[in-house]
Formats: sequence, C-alpha cells, structure tokens
Amino acid sequence: MKNLCLASYSLSLFLKRNVFIKTPLTLFMEISVIVPAYNEKENIEKLFFAIKNVIENQIKTSFEVIFIDDGSTDDSWQLIERLADEQSEVKGFRFSKNFGHQYALKAGIDYALGDAVISIDADFQQPPELIVKMYKEWKNGNQIVYALRKKTKGTGILKKLSSALFYKIMNILSDVKLENGASDFRLLDRKVVDELKKMNEYYLFIRGLVKWVGYKTKSIEYVAEKRYSGKTKYSAKKMFSFAQTGIMSFSIKPLRLATFFGFLISLFAFAYIVYALFAKFIFHNVLEGWTSILISVLLIGGIQLITIGIIGEYIGKLFLEVKKRPTYIISDKKE
Ligand code: UDP
Ligand code: MG
Repeated sequence: MKNLCLASYSLSLFLKRNVFIKTPLTLFMEISVIVPAYNEKENIEKLFFAIKNVIENQIKTSFEVIFIDDGSTDDSWQLIERLADEQSEVKGFRFSKNFGHQYALKAGIDYALGDAVISIDADFQQPPELIVKMYKEWKNGNQIVYALRKKTKGTGILKKLSSALFYKIMNILSDVKLENGASDFRLLDRKVVDELKKMNEYYLFIRGLVKWVGYKTKSIEYVAEKRYSGKTKYSAKKMFSFAQTGIMSFSIKPLRLATFFGFLISLFAFAYIVYALFAKFIFHNVLEGWTSILISVLLIGGIQLITIGIIGEYIGKLFLEVKKRPTYIISDKKE
C-alpha cells in the first residue's frame, strides 16, 4: 500500500496535477465544489450527498467538497466536522466571524485543489444536477461556465425588482457588464482560479471579477428553486452594500457622473446669471425673487452634497483598501 501511495504521488507530481492525499489511489483532483455556508445546518449534509450522487453517478471523477463556514452561530461547523470525519471528500474551513458570502467564496477559491472549481449555495436554490451540464461545457473547452437564473420560485416582487434594478444601474455605471440573473453558481477552470487567487481586494465582487478576467465563457440557464431550509442570509443592508460594491469596484463612472451634474448645474446657473443681469439693468423689473433663490440654493446644495458623498465613498474605500488587511480569517480547518 505504501509503495502504491508513493507511486501515485510521484505520478501525480509528474503530471503536475494536484494530489488528493486522502485517497491515494486518486491520482489527481478534477472537481472542487465550494459551498459558503452561514447558519445552514439543515442543508449541509443533504447538499453534500446530492453533490456526491451527481458526481459519482453521472460524471465519475475525483472530487472534493469544501464547506466554508462563514461564522455560523448554529451547529453548522460541528456538522461539517462530523461529515469530514465520515466522508473523505469533505473539507471544512471555519471563519473567525461572519465575513460575508463573497469572502467565503474567495476562501474556497484560494483553497480548492481541483482542475475545475464549482461554487454553489448551500440552500438548494441552485440545482446540483446542473453540475453535469457545467462539466460538459468545461470539457468542450469553456473556461468559465456560469449559471444564469431565469426565474426564482417563490421570491417576492421586492427582491425581483431590486435585483433587476441593480443589474440595470450596474450596467449603466460600471465598466463590467453583467446579465440580469448572473449568479455565483459557476464553474471556473484552474487557469481562471489562479488569476482570481491573486486578487486580494477588500471590497470583493466576485461576479464582476470573473467577468473582468476574460477567458472563454459560456452561460447556461436555470430556474432557481425555493430555499430548502432556513431563511435568506442576505439582509436588505447586506444586499445594498453588495450592490454598491459591485458598482463602485469596477468603475469611476459615478465620480464622472458627479462632474457631469456639476457642469449641468453650472450651465443653468450661468444662464440664470445672464437673465438676472438683463432683468436688473435692462428690464428694470427685479422682484424679490424669493422662490428662485430658494430653489437654486436647495438644488445646488443638494447636488453638492451628492457629489461630495460619492467622492467620500471612493475615498473611504481607498482608506480601507490601502490597509491591506487580510480579507478573511480562518479559525479552524478540517481536512
Ligand atoms: N452566505 C454566507 N455568508 C453570509 C450570507 C450568506 O456564506 O453572510 C451564504 C449562504 O449560507 C448561502 C449563500 O451564501 O449558501 C447564499 O445566501 P442566501 O441563500 O441567503 O442568499 P439569497 O439566495 O437569498 O440571495
Ligand atoms: Mg439562497
């Protein structure tokens, strides 16, 4: 057995592939599935077996499933540890606190060993069966295969509207164009993963980064299911800051928008000055002008505050970015 292990190890080194140490007979790891999980205790085990079933029966290749526990306060971590003891394909990383979905995804990307890395949510909204289709598209030479959500069963009108609005604004204001329904359910080739690993931005918007790196991309459509168990872990506040990061991480267009408004208002102001001078010296019909003064003061004041706010947001982001803090902290590992 020892010789066999050694032989498989040297062979995999020779093949310049990653070594799957837990089961030495597996020469290399083809698929890594990364699952960010924040208080998902009812979903973890079921999801693992669903993924295992799909890969073992329909793809028939070596794989690992990495759970990233994003600071859960329920028993998620204990469950992940137990599952990792029982199942050789399971690995677990636990964050020291709740850092956020995007950072959990980044940790998964950083630690995955596979030639293809698939990210999927823990709540069954994204059907694990789609992994087979993604895998086929990858084998056809696509380096990024992402799932495009066509419909979501059981989502409220508010979430649908805010999501559509986000993609509209994002595409007007940002240099990176995203389709409505783009999700974090995707397969990335090792080459893309290695590029993403180099990016240690404090404000992470992985969907945008994946678009930004380029490479041969293919989208496949799916209908999102209802959450299997638990509530959404994205509060309105989290969604807003996610949307803001998406827009502001990829463009300085909002800053330009501020300049544009500045010019527009100045133009009106100039025309108004000309009118005011005419009124005073030529027509001699100067009235108290209370209304117009009030409106212009309010308008210009408002625009100024908006523009200062936008500039402030960028400066604030710079401030946090230059500190070069780690984007997440792993407190426990289970491999
Ligand atoms: N998630 C996370 N950290 C967070 C919020 C969410 O790791 O702070 C995970 C969550 O456990 C799930 C995925 O990210 O696996 C997507 O979250 P959720 O399903 O709550 O979002 P929604 O589908 O409602 O947009
Ligand atoms: Mg969900």
